[in-house]
Amino acid sequence: MTLLQVAGLVVGYGAAPVLHEVDLTVPPATIVTVLGANGAGKTTLLRTLSGLLRPIGGTIRFDGGSLAGVPVERVVRLGLAHVPEGRGVVAELTVEENLRLGGVWQADRRDARLAQDEVYELFPALAARRRHAGHQLSGGERQMLALGRALVARPRLLLLDEPSLGLAPRITAQIMALLRRLCDETGLAVLLVEQNVRSALSVADQGVVLSLGRVVAAADAAQLRDDAGLRHAYLGF
Ligand code: ATP
Repeated sequence: MTLLQVAGLVVGYGAAPVLHEVDLTVPPATIVTVLGANGAGKTTLLRTLSGLLRPIGGTIRFDGGSLAGVPVERVVRLGLAHVPEGRGVVAELTVEENLRLGGVWQADRRDARLAQDEVYELFPALAARRRHAGHQLSGGERQMLALGRALVARPRLLLLDEPSLGLAPRITAQIMALLRRLCDETGLAVLLVEQNVRSALSVADQGVVLSLGRVVAAADAAQLRDDAGLRHAYLGF
């Protein structure tokens, strides 16, 4: 079964494409990591999937339906949540208010409240700081809040852009372990963009390597980890 199926995706910011004929599949309860050097097109891919950029060509199917031309708020309602690079936490709002923002597109307010409580259970550090403003949080807490806010929308697919950016290895490991747990226990699927190749390949089930907007490898994460030639050519370790 497939939750997300991308085929022949072409995306650009002007006339020249940045993504060329990208194919990608994400099954439920699976972590797929997208790897590649700066400028490979990873962020562009996530922005297209969440409806922020319109593709030039190709198809995006989510849970059997087409996502072409579907506006962002409807994409969220369908079950796809995006945590952007830099995290997008509103610095002036409290933890509680930021989490509430995650539920604004949900029809059922009570469910949004319930989901908020679950986020506090997942991240006790956030519960302790629920009245603190975003700018008072540490980098790790801000990343947890961004993740928590996305989870309030009860997504089936989480798009994560560089969650380890600027975080201590211990916090990164905690976040990766949590993603694994959510996948295994709730069936959540994750598309994980990472510069931290080692930690991404250690948590992911599958990996896709992008180079200059093209998929140059797609395989089980363990296979990518063991492929020295590929690692040297594209992954820098
Ligand atoms: P990074 O890890 O640095 O974020 P990335 O793999 O996410 O890299 P993208 O940010 O998707 O790569 O960029 C892919 C290409 O698209 C790059 O050549 C970049 O210069 C170009 N690009 C990105 N954003 C824009 C934009 N808003 N307008 C024009 N070109 C852009």
